Amino acid sequence: MTTAQTNRRPDGDGRPKVRPSPHDFLNVDAHLSDEEREIRAGVRSFVEERIQPNIRDWFERAHFPRELVPEMGSVGVLGMHLKGYGCAGKSAVAYGLACMELEAGDSGLRTFVSVQGSLAMSAIHKFGSEEQKERWLPPMARGEKIGCFGLTEPTAGSDPASMKTFARKDGSDWVINGEKRWIGMGTIADVAVVWARTDEETNPVRGFLIPTDTRGFSARDITGKLSMRASVQCDLSFEDIRLPVDAMLPGAEGLKGPFACLNEARYGIIWGSMGAARSCFECALEYARDREQFGKPVAAFQLTQEKLVEMMLEIEKGTLLALHLGRMKDEGTLRPEQISFGKLNNVREAIEIAREARTILGGNGVTLDYPVMRHANNLESVRTYEGTDEVHTLILGNAITGIPAFR
Ligand SMILES: Cc1cc2nc3c(=O)[nH]c(=O)nc-3n(C[C@H](O)[C@H](O)[C@H](O)COP(=O)(O)OP(=O)(O)OC[C@H]3O[C@@H](n4cnc5c(N)ncnc54)[C@H](O)[C@@H]3O)c2cc1C
Repeated sequence: MTTAQTNRRPDGDGRPKVRPSPHDFLNVDAHLSDEEREIRAGVRSFVEERIQPNIRDWFERAHFPRELVPEMGSVGVLGMHLKGYGCAGKSAVAYGLACMELEAGDSGLRTFVSVQGSLAMSAIHKFGSEEQKERWLPPMARGEKIGCFGLTEPTAGSDPASMKTFARKDGSDWVINGEKRWIGMGTIADVAVVWARTDEETNPVRGFLIPTDTRGFSARDITGKLSMRASVQCDLSFEDIRLPVDAMLPGAEGLKGPFACLNEARYGIIWGSMGAARSCFECALEYARDREQFGKPVAAFQLTQEKLVEMMLEIEKGTLLALHLGRMKDEGTLRPEQISFGKLNNVREAIEIAREARTILGGNGVTLDYPVMRHANNLESVRTYEGTDEVHTLILGNAITGIPAFR
């Protein structure tokens, strides 16, 4: 795909001489810096060379390509927006563009980058002690160590305040018991960022760094997933895990800690979901031009054109929204409610685009020969994690009415 516009028009009518490209109809590229375009090109090449040729097989076998992790470190996408400690220190927009390219490959691979960088590394970067940062962040940025982020529990999903995992003080140690569910990378992680209740009055929820070889830590893959098959999600269990006092993240106070990390990951999803949508749209457009029925390409039917146009409209709007929110994030003016706006809208639209693209591919659309239904299935998870549609609707409802309606 080219960045600017293609298809020359005739000269002489005063209009620009090129027609907008279906791949960047509004020429959003013109609003990116050279560095941002360069970073995007690097991630796009990585996705084309290392993910696209293999993703069908990984998805079919429910296999996460562990060997790609150091390569992602070399490409610079792990903790990409964090500063210092071996992280790339790139802008929020550059990080968003990377998420978009990765998710055009597969949501499972973008999810890995989010869990590692936006959740686990960002928790350590925001709330860790100097020793914790020095120990974990450089090898995580290089992809030599993997992190996971344990907030959700079997009985505490949308309402993390109801978590049961408990950290008890025993002398100067902490002793942790409990369970977590749906934790990305749990079985392959070297360190788990785990959120637990304590009996501290002021900050009842605290974050802990648990090396996964600690006695009492166990993790089990969740199998039978019909979504995110090229990614790993796990049940974690903690049985009398004993940790030294310095295993706690000193800067994280209450649920504000994990929520701050979730906001980082939600931001990446705003871009990533548009990457998955773009992949579906491009596939449907190409298929519709090639596939003939009733003596002409299915792209020649008005009903198909309407579908393609609706997809393109929502991708352009969603990408502009992502860029706008990214620029706000880089300026330091982005509010969590505005992140909810982007996550709710862009994932919802991406799912619609994937499903509509599937109809254009007809029967072939339900196979893994095309990326569309894989994206559609993956996006069901993206819709649920980092706040469901309902949770983001309630966040926005609260923002505009001033009345919380969560319970
Ligand atoms: C692929 C995948 C990866 C994940 N990765 C991680 C991870 O790495 N770390 C982690 O901690 N968690 C992770 N999660 C968990 C994810 O964040 C939760 O699934 C999510 O928060 C929803 O929780 P739940 O599944 O328990 O659903 P529930 O909270 O039980 O919700 C069920 C339904 O009820 C609705 N609902 C709940 N409360 C309300 C309300 N007040 N009003 C209206 N409707 C409501 C929800 O919107 C939803 O539709 C992952 C999940 C998936 C599927």
